[in-house]
Amino acid sequence: MCLGEPLKICHMPSERLDVVIIGAGHNGLTCACYLAAAGLKVRVVERRAVVGGAAVTEEFHPGFRNSTASYTVSLLNPKVIRDLHLAEHGLRVVERPFSNFVPLPDGRSLRFGGDLASTQAEVAKFSARDAERLPAYYARLDRLAEQLKQWVLQAPPELGGPFVVEGWRDLVAGAKLLLQFGRLPREGQRDLIDVFTKSAGDWLDSWFESEPLKGVLGWDSVVGNYASPYAPGSAYVLLHHCFGEVNGNPGKWGHAIGGMGAITQAMAAEARARGVQITVDAPVARVRVEGGSAVGVELESGEVLHARAVASNVNPKLLYQRLLPPTNLPAEFVEAIGRYKCGSGSFRMNVALSELPDFRAAPGTRAQPHHGSGIVFDASLPYMDRAWHDAEAHGCSAQPIVEMLIPSVVDDTLTPRGLHVASLFCQHFGPEADWSELKPVAIERIFDVVNAHCPNFRASLLGYRALSPRDLEDEFGLIGGDIFHGQLSLDQLFSMRPVMGYARYRGPLKGLYHCGSGAHPGGGVTGAPGHNAAQEILRDLR
Ligand SMILES: Cc1cc2nc3c(=O)[nH]c(=O)nc-3n(C[C@H](O)[C@H](O)[C@H](O)COP(=O)(O)OP(=O)(O)OC[C@H]3O[C@@H](n4cnc5c(N)ncnc54)[C@H](O)[C@@H]3O)c2cc1C
Repeated sequence: MCLGEPLKICHMPSERLDVVIIGAGHNGLTCACYLAAAGLKVRVVERRAVVGGAAVTEEFHPGFRNSTASYTVSLLNPKVIRDLHLAEHGLRVVERPFSNFVPLPDGRSLRFGGDLASTQAEVAKFSARDAERLPAYYARLDRLAEQLKQWVLQAPPELGGPFVVEGWRDLVAGAKLLLQFGRLPREGQRDLIDVFTKSAGDWLDSWFESEPLKGVLGWDSVVGNYASPYAPGSAYVLLHHCFGEVNGNPGKWGHAIGGMGAITQAMAAEARARGVQITVDAPVARVRVEGGSAVGVELESGEVLHARAVASNVNPKLLYQRLLPPTNLPAEFVEAIGRYKCGSGSFRMNVALSELPDFRAAPGTRAQPHHGSGIVFDASLPYMDRAWHDAEAHGCSAQPIVEMLIPSVVDDTLTPRGLHVASLFCQHFGPEADWSELKPVAIERIFDVVNAHCPNFRASLLGYRALSPRDLEDEFGLIGGDIFHGQLSLDQLFSMRPVMGYARYRGPLKGLYHCGSGAHPGGGVTGAPGHNAAQEILRDLR
């Protein structure tokens, strides 16, 4: 059906489009908005009944709505927010009172990430030395985040050929990269290399001694990263979660009133205002190829859409293994996509609650600041390391890593009055495990972790929805349940995303572009791949 015209079937088989976009995730919508602003005729076709992909708000229990998959905002690029007029379409993001609350098994807790003085006072409860070192750590991390931010809205240089880079444009981009590196002080250069090669565990151990602090910082390194925090490369995943902001406050995370769907509904409204046609319940069966070029798509309904270009918002593995026959692709590319690693080991639950969790470490069921922060249970690097080893051996850890957010304490649009909804985002669940068997086990273990800290939790449960890695693939097309459309490892980042030689939002087929999280700068609700892909498409089509 057509958004805004729910009862009318839209058929325009003979109409020639400039660009057809496969998928109405936030990146597909962002790409559509930029293309339409440049005067192109654009149509977006989405498999699900609602736009937004992994950034969507849905009812999961009668009367209870929540973000279904992604649940917290920081990485959404300020330029995208401005250019797409998201605030004018009603988007409002509120900051957390402080970043994280870490309840510990011994009844103590850490309130982390408010203003610096109060954070230092909290950290000093565990280590005076760590509290002293915190400002220097922040300064070094901020400098690293600043380096990355410079490349978020730019295509990386294309690697390949005898001169290492492909052409003049890549040479200039490569030179810019080297100059940027050269301008850093020696210590900053070392940090940059460390963060791409070291483990988060090694990096954090070199800074701090107290486990709750290392645990809360290390949480970012295991989010969507099915690996021990001591796996080389995990330090980058930590940094990937630090280059955002909320309302101009760098490094902060917040809540979109109405849930993550408020972001994508605002994007869809802007797209429609720019003349983009968005069709939901319209799965693409295959990309049409003629004379070695992508010339449109064929929907599962049989409808064919012809276009000068096709932009794919879906995981690259899904695109090249399911929507295109391998015969249309170079063998070396097919092989590389076959090796592209997907599977972030995430398990996502929404729970409807009759009352707020009553923490042993901070008693009370009336809303307090800790209820509005990101609650990371038992955070420590050894706990996270154990969870990964356990999941490797058994598919699911005996004590999984759980973060809980309770958006209803800052947003009254999600639940009936006086009741609450919580997002549970849990890590280290084997992507390859048999989830038909393991899912009930995983749910109970997640509840056990929460209930150990909040003894009223199980009794307050009114209902829930659980999404295993398998469910994330079936529901959203996230291959292997990968929340980022592919692992954020050094071999799959920047000029190597998704595959070396194809990082400029173009695959090997002429006319086929990548506008989703499988392209630079990767996953998260950023809008960046959609923005960057649109610039590349416009270069070719105009
Ligand atoms: C459980 C979970 C928690 C997360 N938490 C956060 C968070 O809190 N903050 C954050 O910033 N990021 C988070 N992320 C990551 C982030 O949500 C994703 O990386 C991002 O939303 C991906 O956006 P996208 O537009 O690139 O792709 P998607 O959102 O995956 O969109 C792709 C679209 O393509 C559609 N599609 C698939 N196949 C077809 C087909 N054959 N035909 C037509 N359409 C098709 C899909 O239905 C989907 O709508 C989370 C992700 C998950 C899954």
